[in-house]
Amino acid sequence: MTKRILRSILLVAVLVLAASTGATLGILYYHFGGQLEEELRREASYLSVSVEKEGIEAFDDLPADAERVTYIDTDGTVLFDNRADENGMENHGDREEVKEALEQGSGRAVRNSDTLSQRTLYYALRLSDGKVLRVSSTQYNIPGLLGGMIQPLLIILILMAALSAWIAYRVSRGIVEPINQLDLDHPEDNQVYDEIAPLLTKINRQQKQIRREIADAKRQQEEFSIITENMEEGFVILDVHTEVLSYNSSALKLLGAEESRERRSILAMNRSQEFQRIVEQVLSGRHVITMLELGDRSCQIAANPVFHDNEVSGAVLLILDMTERMKGEQMRREFTANVSHELKTPLTSISGFAEIISDGFVKPEDTRKFAGRIFKEAQRLITLVNDVIKISQLDEGKLPYEREETDLYELCREILRRMEERASAAGVHLYLKGPHKKITTVQTILDEVLNNLCDNGIKYNKKGGNLTVTIEEGEGETRISVEDQGIGIPAEDQKRVFERFYRVDKSHSKAIGGTGLGLSIVKHGAMYLGAEVKVESTLGKGSTFTLVLPEQ
Ligand code: ADP
Repeated sequence: MTKRILRSILLVAVLVLAASTGATLGILYYHFGGQLEEELRREASYLSVSVEKEGIEAFDDLPADAERVTYIDTDGTVLFDNRADENGMENHGDREEVKEALEQGSGRAVRNSDTLSQRTLYYALRLSDGKVLRVSSTQYNIPGLLGGMIQPLLIILILMAALSAWIAYRVSRGIVEPINQLDLDHPEDNQVYDEIAPLLTKINRQQKQIRREIADAKRQQEEFSIITENMEEGFVILDVHTEVLSYNSSALKLLGAEESRERRSILAMNRSQEFQRIVEQVLSGRHVITMLELGDRSCQIAANPVFHDNEVSGAVLLILDMTERMKGEQMRREFTANVSHELKTPLTSISGFAEIISDGFVKPEDTRKFAGRIFKEAQRLITLVNDVIKISQLDEGKLPYEREETDLYELCREILRRMEERASAAGVHLYLKGPHKKITTVQTILDEVLNNLCDNGIKYNKKGGNLTVTIEEGEGETRISVEDQGIGIPAEDQKRVFERFYRVDKSHSKAIGGTGLGLSIVKHGAMYLGAEVKVESTLGKGSTFTLVLPEQ
């Protein structure tokens, strides 16, 4: 801008200078031209008086530096000329000023000289005897004048140009400086030129709009991030060149990629061939939904192409972690198979005993014995079915029970009271220790959990062994431990005993009426109560199962 202003001012200065020089020269030229003509007129009139009186002798007194004087006869013959030899001069009768003088008494003419830079002014006067006296003088014309003044003119021009350049520089800086110092963050606080006030107002308005739009975009982006970040599903948006435009941390985790600030291709986030094929397919415009193993996770990928003007412009990938669901389904399948198997054994026995009786192979005195066996197997079946029902209910999490205030000591006493008969039959001594701690919990489930633990504590105890239930208040938690002095659990089995139908010694468990579901119910029940179950056990010495209940 400074340069432009500078150039404009310079141009104006040079033009003004040239125009004013030209105009001045023109005025001077015409002014002096007029003066010269006047002088010629005067000189001619003075000289005419002398010539009228003395004739041709009057020219003898002409000073050497006098203007050119020509004395012409009535027929045009040059009688005298102070600058040339009159004898060699041609007839002047046809000269414009001479003709005019002969006709009207006086005449004037201007003719350019041989040298283009000059012109000659002629003034002719008819004398009383009809002869003509002509006085002429040469004057520089405008180009001639200019040629003569070129040097001073150039010097003035250069000086003026330098001066105007300096002024232009100062002026343009003076104009531009305040504009450069405008505070565009607060456009309306500037009071520089009235002319740019509307511009500043407009900038201010636009800035407010831009700020509003940026804030809106930021808010939308944040909302989008909050939504996507809280999604368990992986979420990726990519453009048609596979470049990732947006993703959430679940996507990073599932694809096994590192966080990166730079834009990158989705193909760099997971290099498995199957995944690359999915990306290729979706970017060719096909909707893809498929299962994919990503590391140790089983994922379902739903890939949707995004179209713009009937062309694929990118894709949205949704990655669902199906590992737990698949595991759950696998577990359910195994559970169903196990349940069927477990049901089959007692049913086969019942059916076998009944068949023998109906075939009449059993002596009447043995009927009671067989009926007793059928009853035992039927009891086993009932226990098993009850356990399956309990575990299914816990699995679904749809239990109709209410939370209520429970005195743990009273609950444990009641459970042990129910066990007394079985304990004395097994020769196990029951003990209960601890305070009357009250908590709010789902009593039915806690009863079931503790009942199973105590039941195992008797089943897997030794004759004459103890079963001790201890209630302890800890920091922010309550612990109920069930300790027995029985056979113990090998270290490698301690984690697995909570699995459905897992038994350390299958025949022993079956012999004592176990279903293999007791500890599984304990684990699920504890989860339902928000509690944790721990096991400590030494083979041959006994086991301690501890239920850690959080403070309500
Ligand atoms: P079960 O009906 O066979 O007792 P559980 O799920 O209650 O099934 O227990 C699973 C297995 O864990 C049992 O078969 C047994 O081998 C072992 N177990 C459970 N409790 C004890 C315990 N207190 N002492 C020793 N072993 C135990």
